[in-house]
Amino acid sequence: MAPLMLMIAGPPGSGKGTLCDNIVRDYGLVHISGGDLLREQIKAGTALGNEAKGYMARGALVPDDLVIRMILDRLRQPDVTKRGALLDGFPRTGVQAEALKKSGIKFNAMIVLEVSDAALMERSAGRRLDPTTGAIYHLKFKPPPKEILSRLVIRPDDEPAKQRARIKIYNESKDALLKAYGAIAISVNAEQPIAAVYAEYQQKVKGLSKSKL
Ligand code: AMP
Repeated sequence: MAPLMLMIAGPPGSGKGTLCDNIVRDYGLVHISGGDLLREQIKAGTALGNEAKGYMARGALVPDDLVIRMILDRLRQPDVTKRGALLDGFPRTGVQAEALKKSGIKFNAMIVLEVSDAALMERSAGRRLDPTTGAIYHLKFKPPPKEILSRLVIRPDDEPAKQRARIKIYNESKDALLKAYGAIAISVNAEQPIAAVYAEYQQKVKGLSKSKL
């Protein structure tokens, strides 16, 4: 049987990382994250990494041609053709989506995590990092022990203006994705507890058609 090929999109703070971990564990898929691949290139000091570095530091998108080449190369590796993949954080622009379509690599579904902008802002506003242990808390949803409250800090990415900008970039990329892959989109309500998000995902993937777009 042909391996499962999935894509996933979700706004910052939608719990996409956790869902990805569960999916790759349960289905044995190769997890391909645009951001992770770029960070590996930077760490390895490659020409691509050096070019991407400045864009990433500013929170801007890396130019399409660089990312497209990197992702298509990765998708053609034998582990992907054998085990299937979960593509995460790509495509993010219309040009990327069209390039992926043109590549001839077919996908079964695009999972789209739905969380309202207001809920995303509430999640990030209450999130706190414990610089001593690296643990992440939420003042309302995962309250920290009282004795460490004074040392907790807000992560730079969670500053409201930054979060608003990231949500806007995501919403724009989502439109481009839906335009290209709307026919295989599966939306999952990610404004519920993690276990319920996963249950809804499993329910919807079960009825997935075997045909690929
Ligand atoms: P992420 O880990 O998905 O949050 O991505 C981190 C950063 O990597 C983004 O802010 C972008 O600068 C860059 N990046 C990741 N994926 C893409 C993509 N598909 N297109 C352009 N830039 C990307």
